[in-house]
Amino acid sequence: DVVVLGSANMDLVATTDRLPGRGETIAGHTFRQVPGGKGANQAIAAARSGGTVRFAGAVGDDDLGRQILAALGAAGVDTTAVVRADAPTGTAHITVAAGGDNTIVVVPGANGTLTELLPAHAAVIAGADTLLLQLELPLSVVRAAAAHARACGVRTVLTPAPARPLPDELLAAVDLLVPNEHEATIIAGVDDPHQAAAVLARRCDVLMTLGERGAVYATAGAEPVTVPAFPVTAVDTTAAGDTFVGVLASALAAGTAMPDAMRRASAAAALSVQRPGASDSAPTAAQVDAFLGG
Ligand code: ADP
Repeated sequence: DVVVLGSANMDLVATTDRLPGRGETIAGHTFRQVPGGKGANQAIAAARSGGTVRFAGAVGDDDLGRQILAALGAAGVDTTAVVRADAPTGTAHITVAAGGDNTIVVVPGANGTLTELLPAHAAVIAGADTLLLQLELPLSVVRAAAAHARACGVRTVLTPAPARPLPDELLAAVDLLVPNEHEATIIAGVDDPHQAAAVLARRCDVLMTLGERGAVYATAGAEPVTVPAFPVTAVDTTAAGDTFVGVLASALAAGTAMPDAMRRASAAAALSVQRPGASDSAPTAAQVDAFLGG
């Protein structure tokens, strides 16, 4: 099964004609509340794609936390390892202007309390096939979780977002790194994304996503393998990468070989970008099957 140790936020999204200036108050048009955070997004995408998926994270003892747990549960994610922190549930305060420009303020809240690997989280990781990590929790817990997974023989897949340079020790404990082009250049410290992927592939397997150009899988000593994206009309690419990684992990944990797992992940991401929304736009396994079959 798949365990996701990561962030859970409630996205609080207002739409406006334009972004407000400093000190200015403007009227908005719509307001939506959507469960988000890279951890929760990946868990939801993986669970909708099939197999057992557990989310290890933290929410506050508040309404937003209960709503996030309900959304995870509705997608089929096991939330028994989620802890109630003595801090409010994480929130992302998002303003989206008519042209698509946005501003985002993230308040980590409960997510920020996870500085150490809790026994409850260590226990679910030990029983998993695959651990999914991102960089929205404190780096100390990401490092501890990767080291623990390595010691338990659990495959670790890291989405290095938000982008930041990574300690060597963390890269060494990761089996598969899934950066987008921007993240790959920052971690490798090299401007060209393909060169960056080649540099990183000396440390661990790398699957770099290229947006509408697909994804490339680079491993030490082998030619990179490119899987094209499916040509679709994108209306909202929010969480495309999280859907891609969640579905990839679910396929790998089910024993699917990498090229086929990449194809399924690309298909799921292509379906998700055709719908507005983030975690709520991840397709089910049946929808991915229908897309690939038709
Ligand atoms: P991120 O959202 O992390 O920046 P990408 O933009 O690289 O990640 O997208 C991840 C994956 O989603 C891509 O590898 C591709 O399979 C799919 N994808 C993203 N944008 C599109 C698009 N416009 N059309 C089809 N597939 C897309």
